[in-house]
Amino acid sequence: MSVRQPMPAQPADVRAHNFKEVALGYTQEQAVAEAERCIECKNPQCVKGCPVNIDIPAFIKSMKTSDFDSAIDKIKETNSLPAVCGRVCPQETQCEMYCILGKKEEPVAIGRLERFCADYELEKGVKAPQRAPPTGKHVAVVGSGPAGLAAASDLAKEGHEVTMFEALHSAGGVLIYGIPEFRLPKDIVQEEVDYIGQLGVDMKPGYVIGKIKTIDELKNEFDAIFLGTGAGLPNFMGIDGENLNGVYSANEFLTRVNLMKAYQFPEYDTPIKKGKHVIVVGGGNVAMDAARCALRLGADEVSIVYRRSDEELPARREEIEHAKEEGIVFRLLTNPVKILGDEKLMVTGAECVKMELGEPDDSGRRRPQVIEGSEHVVYADIVIMAIGTSPNPLIFEGAEGLEASKWGTIIVDEAGMTSIDGVCAGGDVVTGAATVISAMGAGKLAASTINEYLE
Ligand SMILES: Cc1cc2nc3c(=O)[nH]c(=O)nc-3n(C[C@H](O)[C@H](O)[C@H](O)COP(=O)(O)OP(=O)(O)OC[C@H]3O[C@@H](n4cnc5c(N)ncnc54)[C@H](O)[C@@H]3O)c2cc1C
Repeated sequence: MSVRQPMPAQPADVRAHNFKEVALGYTQEQAVAEAERCIECKNPQCVKGCPVNIDIPAFIKSMKTSDFDSAIDKIKETNSLPAVCGRVCPQETQCEMYCILGKKEEPVAIGRLERFCADYELEKGVKAPQRAPPTGKHVAVVGSGPAGLAAASDLAKEGHEVTMFEALHSAGGVLIYGIPEFRLPKDIVQEEVDYIGQLGVDMKPGYVIGKIKTIDELKNEFDAIFLGTGAGLPNFMGIDGENLNGVYSANEFLTRVNLMKAYQFPEYDTPIKKGKHVIVVGGGNVAMDAARCALRLGADEVSIVYRRSDEELPARREEIEHAKEEGIVFRLLTNPVKILGDEKLMVTGAECVKMELGEPDDSGRRRPQVIEGSEHVVYADIVIMAIGTSPNPLIFEGAEGLEASKWGTIIVDEAGMTSIDGVCAGGDVVTGAATVISAMGAGKLAASTINEYLE
């Protein structure tokens, strides 16, 4: 039996006080040793679990002989953001879940190997990507998250002129404003964005489509359009006290910390309230990220308040374990019913109830039910709501005929085409909040649909 190479990481008590990357990456020796665990099965299943179809067996085979140049070339045939995906993809429910070795022992650490190859290339200097001769066609990509970046990259490689419109001042979507520095360093994201820039994609930051220009207007200027505007509008619970001073949406909190570098205030000019006792409501990746940021900002206690049990926590297991190691408190089977405040309207805590799990609901998860008489107060000076997000409806303004579902997501056919001819969409704006790699897969599908459309 071969043992999976452990990922070197900053010790928990050290990293809980800094924003530097937690997982440090394999050494060359570890990477080759881990690649050697791949048994080169005749009928490999791992690719089946990769939404962007990386030829995983081929890149791992190259790594066995330390041929990292060939390995990264193979990965980049289908994935233009490998340093990002190697860090944040939920490989345990994707490629690694299908690894044949995983039936008997731990699967090959495919994500960590991908990260190693990507970092190896970044250190050496990224090669300028190949482009087909110009087609004379113009494509607009709206949104620069993983969906938009993947679509833009594939479209530019085909020789189309691509213009990317982004509402924020930096490209990258959630990769740049949501996922914290300690999980995904921003210079890594920037390198991968720059790689797409090298393909000739014209980036237009600070450009809100639906306000500065509408889709109807873009249709007159471009031969085709891709919409990858994500799901960045935070949901709230609708309980009393949510408008008190000290209640943040995770979205605002993380944007201030990550994109605006509030943790370096006053060097950077965006402030943030640094709570001593912080409650984060929710149990997904966003909740874990917000909780771990609050801890790093100097809180004495940060607790996750989640209405189901540990088993149902939707965040990646690795993130949950990291959060626990760092000292985040998990108040499970607990739900806030009211945010409490003082006479100056500052948050003082949350009134919570205990929950128990009943029969499964429509999502297949057991439905949480309130335990009568279980009301109690959790004291806090900051409450962060991380209970999900929805697409921003702004994109529908001036978009005649663009159909939406009852959840506000854009409706597309199986090829990624919306109800408007020549306008594709993909990523969170279609699926609701999902994953980086599924957004990239949707961006690539839409790019191939647009190619066919333009022919
Ligand atoms: C805190 C956090 C942690 C996460 N952790 C993980 C993780 O560990 N692993 C994982 O796989 N996934 C994770 N996710 C989910 C993942 O990041 C998203 O599923 C993914 O980024 C979706 O990509 P997208 O391109 O569809 O949208 P986004 O990344 O949301 O990008 C959309 C972009 O469009 C721009 N935009 C919106 N409206 C307009 C407009 N009208 N005009 C112009 N531009 C516009 C936005 O500013 C944004 O830059 C996390 C999400 C969050 C919030």
